[in-house]
Amino acid sequence: MSAVAPAVAGDVFEDTLGTYFGSGLDAADGDVATLIRAEGQRQSGGIELIASENVVSRAVLEAQGSWFCNKTVEGYPGARYHGGAEVADSLETLGERRACAVFGAGQANLQPHSGSQANLAVFSALLKPGDPVLSLDLKCGGHLSHGSRANISGKIYQIHAYGLRPDDGRIDMDQVRDAAREHRPKLIVAGGSSYPRELDLKAFYEIAESVDARLLVDMAHFAGLVAGGVLGNPVDYADIVTTTTYKSLRGARGGMILWNDDALSRPLRTAVFPGVQGSPLLHMMAAKAVGLGEALQPAFKDYARRVQNNARALADEMMAHGLDVVTDGTDTPLILVDLTGLETDGQTASDALSTIAITCNKNLIPDDPRPPTTTSGLRFGVSAMTSRGIGEPDIRRVGKWIADCLLGRIQDPGQVRRDAERMARGLPFYPMS
Ligand SMILES: *Cc1c(COP(=O)(O)O)cnc(C)c1O
Repeated sequence: MSAVAPAVAGDVFEDTLGTYFGSGLDAADGDVATLIRAEGQRQSGGIELIASENVVSRAVLEAQGSWFCNKTVEGYPGARYHGGAEVADSLETLGERRACAVFGAGQANLQPHSGSQANLAVFSALLKPGDPVLSLDLKCGGHLSHGSRANISGKIYQIHAYGLRPDDGRIDMDQVRDAAREHRPKLIVAGGSSYPRELDLKAFYEIAESVDARLLVDMAHFAGLVAGGVLGNPVDYADIVTTTTYKSLRGARGGMILWNDDALSRPLRTAVFPGVQGSPLLHMMAAKAVGLGEALQPAFKDYARRVQNNARALADEMMAHGLDVVTDGTDTPLILVDLTGLETDGQTASDALSTIAITCNKNLIPDDPRPPTTTSGLRFGVSAMTSRGIGEPDIRRVGKWIADCLLGRIQDPGQVRRDAERMARGLPFYPMS
């Protein structure tokens, strides 16, 4: 008897091996290929102002689609649970080294699958269930993963919130100090998803120090401006810094943790794996490493400066044409517009802008009278358009279109849409053959 099973009649597996390894997506799956092309057309043909988006380099895209996709590892370089990890070890070590170089940090962990995972890992490394945490109120621009009741962070820990000064919309550091004294948090979190201004890192540091709390700065939205030297570096003040690697940092989708104190290394690493995750996504690790390599180049400093200039120009132009910009401007890539004086809401306004080829998102404003599903605000960000090379004159034109649209001053929306699409198509994008 032969040990080899006889070929089963009709088994075509072997016949497909050539195309399995050789065919591109167009030939292999026309349905998905068509959708990818359509998404490329959509992205290149409109004004993309969603604050959490960016346009990564072709090199980052290529790394994401690489053979690292096939590899499973668990653990950390030099201490893995699977064989064949030597190349993965080199990759992860390279990525960590670049992250440390970009932000001047002693230690980095690139394994978190997302920013929320990074935050959950930090919470679980530093806190026991029920421990008090002080973070920016979600209604004032905080992030879900900082203790929203809808998020696991808000179910496990005892969350106290600080807010904004009603007169100028800035974080109320007196409130932070008072709340810290009253609630004695183990962890203070700074950073949010729709706070447009630079954080007072020194004040956060001093408050955390004075109540013996750890300080976590989540720089997800403005990490690119820190990397480019435009904003102060939270790594110099916080015990731990988390970020997403996409958004203004312009790399792969995912999260990252930075810190200096070696005593935190073991708790943080074990909190990520095996605490909240299994194996890391090595193809995303490769793409993170590529993005961080780009952030080390001189051109990234210019990119960061342009992001800040474009954001300020967009905010200026919106205000000059009658919109209410929260805090009257921005230091970061993002802008929050308050619609309460207008006869519209966030949902309606964002729908109206999409008819003139401008994409953004509805967002709560401080003490929003409407629910998160409707909102009274719009959030804009310029990271993506800046990556495509948009300059100040064009971003100002966009600002005027937005104001005209929201204030009902556009006579011919079709014409504005064509102008916006022409502007977008005139900017660089990936080759799309
Ligand atoms: C975007 C963001 C996150 C999380 O990002 P995900 O990758 O979507 O999990 C965390 N914190 C802040 C402040 C953010 O803006």
